[in-house]
Amino acid sequence: MEAFDHVVVGLGALGSATCMELAKRGRTVLGLEQFELGHGRGASHDTSRILRHSYHTPAYVHMTLQAYDDWARLERDSGTQLVTTVGGLDLFPSHSAISPVDYTDSMTEIGIEYEVLSTPAITERWPQFWLPYDTLGLYQRDAAILPAAHATSTMQQQARRHGAELRDHTRVIGLDASPGGVEVQTSAGAVHAESVVVCADAWTNQVLTSLDVSLPLEVTLEQATYFRPSHPALFEPGVFPLWIWMDDPSFYGFPSYGEATIKAAQDCGGPVIDPDDRTSEIDEVMEKRLGAHVVEMLPASGVPVRSLRCQYTLTPDRDFVISTVPGHPAVSVGLGAAHAFKFAPTFGRALADLATGSSVDFLSPGAEKSTPLDLTLFRMDRPALTDPTYRAHWLV
Ligand SMILES: Cc1cc2nc3c(=O)[nH]c(=O)nc-3n(C[C@H](O)[C@H](O)[C@H](O)COP(=O)(O)OP(=O)(O)OC[C@H]3O[C@@H](n4cnc5c(N)ncnc54)[C@H](O)[C@@H]3O)c2cc1C
Repeated sequence: MEAFDHVVVGLGALGSATCMELAKRGRTVLGLEQFELGHGRGASHDTSRILRHSYHTPAYVHMTLQAYDDWARLERDSGTQLVTTVGGLDLFPSHSAISPVDYTDSMTEIGIEYEVLSTPAITERWPQFWLPYDTLGLYQRDAAILPAAHATSTMQQQARRHGAELRDHTRVIGLDASPGGVEVQTSAGAVHAESVVVCADAWTNQVLTSLDVSLPLEVTLEQATYFRPSHPALFEPGVFPLWIWMDDPSFYGFPSYGEATIKAAQDCGGPVIDPDDRTSEIDEVMEKRLGAHVVEMLPASGVPVRSLRCQYTLTPDRDFVISTVPGHPAVSVGLGAAHAFKFAPTFGRALADLATGSSVDFLSPGAEKSTPLDLTLFRMDRPALTDPTYRAHWLV
């Protein structure tokens, strides 16, 4: 039987980052993906994702500091530019379902600079916006765009460059705890590993079922839409920011990025699905709901030209899972609760720390020491994941 130090299940953004990090530490790593690399059935495809400091708790704001460092390190290591800084505007209508105070207090505590803007100040600076009176804006200048599919393939290239083996069209069927590690059953036979990292997002419970473990996850089928403004210059980076509408429903959008369109989507607007029994069809009701909000807030946004589907995997508290599996110390799980792309290389470091049992033992010359993350927030045995009476709340 083939044997590796580590097997990583799933090669989306989180699994690819974990393979990269373990290989950088001189470990033998096998990354397994059930579909082809770069497929569009998970959560890491398409053109863009938001990287930002503005978050609702100090712990997350602190984690964003590490995320920015980790993306900068990946850019240096790969020689590829990945981060496009454009600035971000969080919009809170009066009596918004999401409180601006959580964001201002968290950024203040960690020392992140931001501006508080009134509605007139926002529309004077960005006349593209038409906003209800009394909308408050929080502007943070470091917010940036990450190229989702391109960044994921860059991490796969880095993983291979450091010696990792990545195999696609290989589905993990089960995990058997065995002396000195785990026997991984796959659609192409069994392999042995000292430890396994499960980064299977929507399919996490399918992989963990062989360990009699399951998490209270909901998988939803989200949708992003591209609009073609008649005056694209109005929405270019530098003259138009990233934006998030912090209410229920919650929406978010981008300036133009690599094409003369602007992308927008609703957060947690899609139906609950089974990832193995889902459609790629466009949902016209979702497109209309989003379009109504976008055209009201951005009258010059233009018409929808295309939409695509993408999966969210939600924990009840919308917090991550970065944890060993209780009772199975050789198996750990990384799950992003549908807001982790910005943290992908940081997840990679944290999961590599868990899988190796040591925070850093870089082998590549000149590697900087990283500051261990406080993972107690992301444990699998926390109440939100173990208490069946816990009331789920996804808007944060
Ligand atoms: C529309 C949308 C917008 C988003 N916007 C943002 C944003 O702006 N900023 C941000 O930070 N985050 C954002 N996110 C969230 C972010 O994209 C995800 O948290 C992240 O991509 C999750 O990565 P992953 O690797 O865990 O999941 P995935 O990319 O889904 O990877 C999991 C992989 O595991 C594979 N797999 C599963 N089971 C098996 C098995 N048994 N054997 C082998 N392989 C298996 C799957 O095929 C899949 O490739 C967004 C997500 C969506 C859907």
